[in-house]
Amino acid sequence: MGTPVDFGHKTYNYYGAYLRKKYDGKRVFKIIVDGGFTCPNRDGSKGYGGCTYCNVDSFTPELSRSTPSIKEQIERGMERAVKGYAAEKFIIYFQPNTNTYAPVHYLKMMYDEALTINTENIVGLSVGTRPDCIDAEKIALLESYAGRFDVDLEMGMESIYNETLQQINRGCTHEELETALSLVKNSRLDICVHTIFGFPWETREMMLKYADEINRFEQIKFVKLHHLHIVEGSIMGAKYKKQPFKVFSIEEYTDFLAEFIPLLRPDIIIQRLFGLADYDLLIAPNWGMKKAEIQTYIDKELERRGVRQGAAYTTLV
Ligand code: SF4
Repeated sequence: MGTPVDFGHKTYNYYGAYLRKKYDGKRVFKIIVDGGFTCPNRDGSKGYGGCTYCNVDSFTPELSRSTPSIKEQIERGMERAVKGYAAEKFIIYFQPNTNTYAPVHYLKMMYDEALTINTENIVGLSVGTRPDCIDAEKIALLESYAGRFDVDLEMGMESIYNETLQQINRGCTHEELETALSLVKNSRLDICVHTIFGFPWETREMMLKYADEINRFEQIKFVKLHHLHIVEGSIMGAKYKKQPFKVFSIEEYTDFLAEFIPLLRPDIIIQRLFGLADYDLLIAPNWGMKKAEIQTYIDKELERRGVRQGAAYTTLV
């Protein structure tokens, strides 16, 4: 912390540059895998119906949905990445639902299967989960892969406020995230947290405070920043249709990021600045732009404003 970081041609510490540097300039792509897991916030053990903003399909590009076996998903995903993007190396990404929500022997079977397909070209395993579905045994399992692959564990923080977590039916408190972060503190895993900005009852000031909370945990290596998007098939989507509320325009969200990014610790790598569901599922905000266009718009605007990650970062004591 505190050491100047070379962000390359962007104004923030971004994942693409990190991957290029780490893997000798090779083109590395994430292959999304649906391991058929469910979620404790859907099956009744924590709640029913899921987080109010969630439609699991909206997290996964259409082409990656509903493919039968892990092997087939990976082979198809790799083929697409090679053909479309000249991908050379891959990170296997268990993304939809809660990918540590099963007994350890079952998790091992799933991860093992995924990592034995075209192993020589796999460089990483990435597992998305909830903080309340992590324990020492599962961490040990994930760490057992860390000698051969980079292993990243992604947990939903979503909001730092328990009132918000309650309101979105998250079924998990911020304290449970703190506990999970303490469990992985000295592990060999790369930790990523996922946040959502734009819950209508959270003020800008409240959202800017997320940065201090993220900065507090040295074990957080990656962040995924998302604006709130409302999707079909979610509870929030149904409510929004009846009674629309304010969501970010691209200009407002970029303006927010321009203030947020300087507050963020400079060593934290930003994997994502925004989320974009497929347009067939997206209700709002519809910015009418492709993913690459949104990225370019935000990057240009951040550059124009001279934004620099960490420029306003202060260590809290
Ligand atoms: S967002 Fe994650 S934790 Fe919430 S319901 Fe969807 S899959 Fe479950």
